[in-house]
Amino acid sequence: MKVKFRHPERVVDVAGPARVGDMLARLDVNPETVLVIHAGELVTKDVVIPDDAEVEVRPVISGGAGAAKCSTCRATAVIEIPRHRAAYCAPHFIDHVRSQVRDAISRHRMLSYNDRILVAVSGGKDSLALWDVLLDMGYRADGMYLGLGIGEYSDRSADIVRAYAEARGATLHTVDLAEEYGYAIPETTRLRNRSSCGVCGLSKRYAFNRIAVDHGYDVMATGHNLDDEAAQLLGNVLRWQTPFMARQSVVLPATDGGMAKKVKPLYRLGEREMAAYCIVQGINYIVEECPMVGGNTVLRFKEALNELERHSPGTKAQFLFGFLDRVRPQHFEGADTDAGALVACTSCGQPTTPSRGGGDAVCAFCRTRVHVLRQIGRRRDAARAAVPEGVDA
Ligand code: SF4
Ligand SMILES: [Zn+2]
Ligand SMILES: [Zn+2]
Repeated sequence: MKVKFRHPERVVDVAGPARVGDMLARLDVNPETVLVIHAGELVTKDVVIPDDAEVEVRPVISGGAGAAKCSTCRATAVIEIPRHRAAYCAPHFIDHVRSQVRDAISRHRMLSYNDRILVAVSGGKDSLALWDVLLDMGYRADGMYLGLGIGEYSDRSADIVRAYAEARGATLHTVDLAEEYGYAIPETTRLRNRSSCGVCGLSKRYAFNRIAVDHGYDVMATGHNLDDEAAQLLGNVLRWQTPFMARQSVVLPATDGGMAKKVKPLYRLGEREMAAYCIVQGINYIVEECPMVGGNTVLRFKEALNELERHSPGTKAQFLFGFLDRVRPQHFEGADTDAGALVACTSCGQPTTPSRGGGDAVCAFCRTRVHVLRQIGRRRDAARAAVPEGVDA
């Protein structure tokens, strides 16, 4: 059979017929990190694939069942979820995703049906799936896309998000980082003390909050999933970054000073489930990873957790949910003292912490933006100076 891998693209021949699980083992692929698609359908690990077939192995990490029977109706399953010891057919899998989202929303009082919700949509599987689930559940959810200026990758993501919004008749806000704030993410490489992903994350948080507050949204929802949150927690624990642990939450309340409420309704669902959701629902999403992801350390923590999950299904969920349900309320509730004492940034007016020395309080975004624009200016000057006189630069 021909086994086609996505991102990076390659085709491998494997002798068939073979079970999906055996085929992945032969290729040394961790089944936790991929979905297998045959003839346009998801297939589980005990499905036998004929020798003349073509299958696609699609990675699902952001930043990589005879056939099993559905646990609900006993029809042929399209996905197995080892941590729930369950498998689902397509309609019951959609029910499973919605029930996990419903559970997340009600446990943490994330949303009400009266709320106007702004979903941060990137074109990736998680944020599009989140928007889709919320719309299907009857929430008043609009989208916002931030153009990061990362070449073809950003162009394609923008097209995908626009097409989705149009197909659903949903409202989409679009902001371009370069037009609005003067820089694109690729210009932030090689900065002193700041990684591109760091600048990117800060810019996203700032721009989304700004639109949410300016347009009077009650709450902002992001597509962070179980893998994202567990990896973040692992990183914080490994370095004992207790202030970050105090701030790690799946719901952050609004503050008087102008910070919108933020929620993460997908935190009980893994990335594999979100990719499967998009495939089952026919949602087109950007499969390629952001080309700048190399600087993102969260990926390594995801890989480590996937290795643990492969041998002990449920590890990721126990690790994250234990923190959210027991450790955080007992040891970190109220520890995020920053939230209580916000003042307006003297440059942009958005909320920030007061300056320690009693001087002007300038928010992290404005400080970073000044630094980035200065560096870009210097580079442009240097490039101009390097052009010999009389040559058009
Ligand atoms: S990988 Fe880094 S640069 Fe790319 S979208 Fe994510 S945070 Fe931004
Ligand atoms: Zn079923
Ligand atoms: Zn500011």
